[in-house]
Amino acid sequence: MLDRQEREISYLRLSVTDLCNCRCTYCMPENGVPKLAHSDILSFEEMEAIVRAAASLGIRKLRITGGEPLVRRGIVDLVRMLAAVPGINEVTMTTNATLLAALAVDLKAAGLSRVNVSLDTLDPARYQAITRRGHLEDALAGLRAAHRAGLDPIKVNCVLMGGVNVDEVTRIAGLARNGADGPLGVSSVRFIELMPMGECACWPRQRFVPADVVLDALPGLEPVRGDGVTQLFRMPGWRGTVGLIRPLSHRFCSECNRIRITSDGRLKPCLHSSTEIPLRGLEGPELVEAIRRGIYGKPAQHHMDRTHASESLRAMNEIGG
Ligand code: SAM
Ligand code: SF4
Repeated sequence: MLDRQEREISYLRLSVTDLCNCRCTYCMPENGVPKLAHSDILSFEEMEAIVRAAASLGIRKLRITGGEPLVRRGIVDLVRMLAAVPGINEVTMTTNATLLAALAVDLKAAGLSRVNVSLDTLDPARYQAITRRGHLEDALAGLRAAHRAGLDPIKVNCVLMGGVNVDEVTRIAGLARNGADGPLGVSSVRFIELMPMGECACWPRQRFVPADVVLDALPGLEPVRGDGVTQLFRMPGWRGTVGLIRPLSHRFCSECNRIRITSDGRLKPCLHSSTEIPLRGLEGPELVEAIRRGIYGKPAQHHMDRTHASESLRAMNEIGG
């Protein structure tokens, strides 16, 4: 359906847990987050009812996220349930991939179309420092398994952090050199500007670098086209693409086609707004109406570029990025 700004809203991001096996410095506190009671997190049945209601309003693409979606017990069954909802054309997932190697084949069979894998460095020690708990080799094994299982096209997401990983831009972008034919099957590497929310909200300004550093590092990049909120580029001779997601330096709100559901069942029409619509306890027409209200009232834009602060009251692990 169309929102008040006449944007066609067709994409839902569903956070299926706020827990994670990593503790990325910009996303989660070192000691993790207090574990919510099982009953505070949406059940599979509640998620299915929400997705069904959203699909009746024109949501066609569903992205499963978290926290780390692969730590949610029964994730393969959940994917199967959600992929079967009438109207949903595509179920995708954003994951750190460290647990993906063992699950890729089953997820594909359950109806998952493809994955976006978060990878902020290709240096093992740096990977451990950024994720605090993760091992690069596990993430790479997850990527390989995803490719073998046919979870294509595989996209890599890399959050840019000044003084942390900007020196690796060329190497990370190089994952897209051979596109789907490369050993990790990466069709696109997308560099994302770090957003001031949650753990990194009080980081020094130098960490928040514009994604133009990618264009400086790879001056041969040629613009291809926009893909919603991502601007795509190609290096002559490369099979895959390089994308820039620039919420701060190039606000893309007029292209935004998405809504989000937090792991505790609140609809967030905008990642950076404090507006949340509680969906738990609603059923049938009431549930559809609450989602319709959320979509229609989606804010026109965020103000992060001016204020350097997100108005969201939530950390990223609760929303799912
Ligand atoms: N655990 C999964 C993962 O890391 O892919 C899914 C959830 S994670 C919250 C989703 C995405 O949000 C990841 O790509 C992560 O890098 C990104 N992210 C988290 N905090 C961010 C921030 N402050 N600014 C920009 N991206 C952020
Ligand atoms: Fe976990 Fe993803 Fe947040 Fe890293 S970015 S701590 S992997 S939820």
